[in-house]
Amino acid sequence: SSLQHTFQENRPNSASFFEQAKHSMTGGVNGNLRYFAPFPIIFEKAKNATLIDVDGHPYVDYLLSYGALMLGHAHPDILKAVERVWSEQGTSSFGATHPLELEMAEELITLFPSFDQIRFTNSGLEATLFSLRLAMAATGRTHVAKFEGHYHGAHDHVLQSVNPEAHAAGASEEPMAVPDSLGSPDYYRQHSVILPFNDWNACERILTDRAQEIAAVIMEPMLSGYIAADPQFMKNLRELTTQLGIILIFDEVKTGFRIEVGGAQTYYGVEPDLTALGKVVGGGFPIGIVGGKQSVMELASPLRSNKKTEVVFHSGTFNGNPLSIAAGLATIRYLKQPGRFDQIVQHTHELRSGIDALAKQYELPLQTIGIGTIFNVLTTEKTVQHYRDLGANHNQLRLALDYLLMENGVYSKPLNRFSLSAAHGPDEIKATLDAFEKSMAALKK
Ligand code: PLP
Repeated sequence: SSLQHTFQENRPNSASFFEQAKHSMTGGVNGNLRYFAPFPIIFEKAKNATLIDVDGHPYVDYLLSYGALMLGHAHPDILKAVERVWSEQGTSSFGATHPLELEMAEELITLFPSFDQIRFTNSGLEATLFSLRLAMAATGRTHVAKFEGHYHGAHDHVLQSVNPEAHAAGASEEPMAVPDSLGSPDYYRQHSVILPFNDWNACERILTDRAQEIAAVIMEPMLSGYIAADPQFMKNLRELTTQLGIILIFDEVKTGFRIEVGGAQTYYGVEPDLTALGKVVGGGFPIGIVGGKQSVMELASPLRSNKKTEVVFHSGTFNGNPLSIAAGLATIRYLKQPGRFDQIVQHTHELRSGIDALAKQYELPLQTIGIGTIFNVLTTEKTVQHYRDLGANHNQLRLALDYLLMENGVYSKPLNRFSLSAAHGPDEIKATLDAFEKSMAALKK
């Protein structure tokens, strides 16, 4: 709390802005996860890897709009692409099919091994929602199996056991569905099957027992973007869901273009039936994608039938918005140039090994964990592989580190993971490691 006091003293403009914002925007934020105590920093400007707040403090940004900004803020390739669309096409997808959509569709089908076809949405939320509707239509079943601790966006069927309080959530090998929101109809809890991530014996038993009601297994190939699925677990899950006639959905909203350009399915060599993408694929603009096997995707085709009851409904005023697609394509083309993606991975490794070395030097129970261009800093020396292993974290230590990092010009939002971008070069990494060193030295005092 003395750290929060310093935080507050150094940010009078953020403090008074937030006071005012609380009156006209609920809780002063547009998304509950954006709040932290005593008040979230109010940012005004950004360029490359740097955020500037309303008190004029610069920060190296590792939140990166929750991972969406793979090229950093205001990358020239993206500005150019958006400017071209802006001046030639305006901001409209015309409420009709347009050429940029096809360009992006073909690009994604080449990159993602499991894609025969795609559809655009405007957010990751819409992508997971639409993929689940497809799965229910394909199977005629009513339940969704999801993993404890996995986030798939702000809709009822997946707002179950995202962050359950341990005491309310059942045994670790048989987790209970716990709604994450007030106002979520009990129907969704009753039609949820909660699986323990990376525990194959338990998953095999639960899925086999309840196969007749389970339409889909939806998963984040990396829990929260940083706890990797065991490769054999992924293979087993693919085999068993095929055998049981369950649709396997990879939610690659975080992992797409971040653990590998072609996502976790490329990294693991395991093909889901359906995939949800978001974040990076829109180059910083709102987007979502559902991609997958033709046999499932075609259930949404208006060419199938003119009877509503024979087609899966999908629509959205802004679907295929050209600014998102142009920014996304510019991002993908950047990442596909030889060495570019690998360089971001390399910088991530340098930063992580620097942090791990400092933790040793200062004898603090910290470790980095992740794959590719995302990682987190855990405050436990235990091996973390399951959702409930996260209970070993010393959250107070991590919070103290986060507040010190903010004072030293590094931002990822308290308790959040870290994402890197093409704008995080050697200078940013050095500045970040200096900030970690100062923060760890302060923690030791
Ligand atoms: N799925 C995953 C894995 C996510 O990380 C997120 C967002 O953080 C979503 C879905 C929801 O995406 P959106 O915030 O665009 O609705």
